[in-house]
Amino acid sequence: MTDPERLDLESASDAYARERCLGKPNLVRALRESGKLKAREPNPDTLSGEKVHRGWAGVALETDRLKPAEAETLHALRKLERLVVTDWARREEVSLLGREVRLWLHHGLEPLHSGKYDVAYGTLATRRMLILDAKTLYGDVLPAHSNAQMRELVALARFNFPKCEEFTVAILAPNMATRTSIAVYDHFEAELALRRLRLSLSDAADPDAPRTPGTWCQYCPANPECLEAREHVGKTYNLAKRIETGEYILPLGERGSRFLDSVATASKVLDAMRERYKTLIASDPQSVPGWYLKPGNKVREITDVVAAHEIAANYMTLEQFLAAVEVKITPLEQQVGKKRFNELFASVLSFKQNAPSLARRGQELEQ
Ligand code: SF4
Repeated sequence: MTDPERLDLESASDAYARERCLGKPNLVRALRESGKLKAREPNPDTLSGEKVHRGWAGVALETDRLKPAEAETLHALRKLERLVVTDWARREEVSLLGREVRLWLHHGLEPLHSGKYDVAYGTLATRRMLILDAKTLYGDVLPAHSNAQMRELVALARFNFPKCEEFTVAILAPNMATRTSIAVYDHFEAELALRRLRLSLSDAADPDAPRTPGTWCQYCPANPECLEAREHVGKTYNLAKRIETGEYILPLGERGSRFLDSVATASKVLDAMRERYKTLIASDPQSVPGWYLKPGNKVREITDVVAAHEIAANYMTLEQFLAAVEVKITPLEQQVGKKRFNELFASVLSFKQNAPSLARRGQELEQ
């Protein structure tokens, strides 16, 4: 897997994981060079987010057909953009600097690192810059002031616009409770961000940079091949076995919290390894003796509900037929948009409380 857009280099979107596992860039590079870094199938949420981003940038593909919920997100994004820009401009004249622009950090002519902003504005008179980044999904995200990706975008902006006096970064998240989060860097703080970025890249370039497993391994493209991640899984497994045999009691307090983090990370790494084996066995069925790709079960389903009802009408009442039919909310919601759906169907909506699940309080991710 190569990444021509980033020239196979680190980017601002890697900042969170790089700062926690300095050895990750070296491993990713080594796997890429040996052809072992495999692209993962993008999940539907990622594809949907990319579609909304293209719509926002005005570069939608011919195949892009926004579902109502996505159109609602795009509409909300444009509205948030207008609000934030107006507030930030303080009645000054502003110009649009660009949309979907990748900024580069160079050493001489050699590119070292990059980061792409969604939208940027600038003021000529006061030399201020505003960078907007959209998060279109529903998961948590670190706020702008503590977001490493945003800090590295500021560092790149400082490098590319050295005369700029102030850099504002804003995260627009129309599907989250906190819809905007804003941080302001003066030129001194932006210079510190640039120095911190250079230091991070230099530390990560050290061939002995340590690999430190943690929750960030879940998103690491190298995780199926990483020795440290596998050891992390092994340690978690051993501790779980000892707890199971009664040698240890289930840890509580801070140790319990760390143990649950390890369990979550280990299960994601195991999932990634399982997926990697599936790909390997699909391309070479003899690669792992005793294992093969078993075809999925065939399950019966009725896709033509109208035709099914015409048949059922001869044998049962409408109520009996409807008792077997489940109305799925998401496809209905996608037809009219979430907000409109909630208004239209308010009288028939009810809430079913699912069983509680384990969640990490305050777990916030950058990606
Ligand atoms: S899997 Fe985890 S420990 Fe290994 S390189 Fe990636 S982030 Fe680092």
